[in-house]
Amino acid sequence: MESHGEAAARRRIMDWVRQRAEANGGFLHRVELLSYRFDGEKLPLIDYSRGIRNPRAFASTLSIVASASGPYDDVESDDGLLHYAYRKGDEWSGDNRKLRSAYETGQPLILFRKEQPNIYTPVMPVYVVDDRPDQRSFTIALDESFTFVPDVRHLTDAQRRYARRLARQRLHQPAFRTRVLVAYNTSCAVCRLRHGALLDAAHIVPDSHERGAPTTDNGLAMCKIHHAAYDSDMLGVTPDYEVRIQLDLLNEIDGPMLKHGLQEMHGRQLTVPERRKDQPSRDLLAWRYERFTSSG
Ligand SMILES: [Zn+2]
Repeated sequence: MESHGEAAARRRIMDWVRQRAEANGGFLHRVELLSYRFDGEKLPLIDYSRGIRNPRAFASTLSIVASASGPYDDVESDDGLLHYAYRKGDEWSGDNRKLRSAYETGQPLILFRKEQPNIYTPVMPVYVVDDRPDQRSFTIALDESFTFVPDVRHLTDAQRRYARRLARQRLHQPAFRTRVLVAYNTSCAVCRLRHGALLDAAHIVPDSHERGAPTTDNGLAMCKIHHAAYDSDMLGVTPDYEVRIQLDLLNEIDGPMLKHGLQEMHGRQLTVPERRKDQPSRDLLAWRYERFTSSG
């Protein structure tokens, strides 16, 4: 495939991945990635068994998979960049050659963060911005701007801060959404709406707070309206998983969204995941519920 054709193909593939992920709630299932077709031809977007996908017709790597070992990524470094180890074997051939080609040509690729078996959060486009034969690894950035940084091995403090912020927005938050939505079977904990595109992962303790970890016990799957109501303290959740609506709002008279969407949720029991470790922490809910009661 010629390079401009390859670039166009990548754009189309990424558009498709973005749409699929958005419809699901920010993630893709393994079977969707493996059964993808490009102009009628099968073109799996991940490899069946390896963590890198190098289609034969492509000069540069199309996607890499990073396995999540905890809430943060195992390949991530303090500077907000990712370090991806050379594939085994000859560093000048095979997979390493195509990853190096992505570095040389600046072609964007897709990082799939594997949250749990069969569930992948896409992060894209990402760029290979350095090749470190001394460490047998490639450096990957979450933003094209790093392809213009002359020396990514020695970032300034401002560049480092920017890279860390990017990692939070483009890696940690989407991964958190995936984990929470999967734990709640893609359903709003308050009203049970089941459309991934309309669902968010709400933090119980905000992530700006030191207790606001990106773990499922600090999350609630909520539809957009309930998430916004929760964040603005119009809706609260007690440590006993009961939904409360702010008093002023309960007494207001308005249309069906207020009536059915909010007022009727008052007193409802939250629908929480079956797995105990995924259930919302009562301690964290208590911390947050205090804010709700003191605001109303
Ligand atoms: Zn809802």
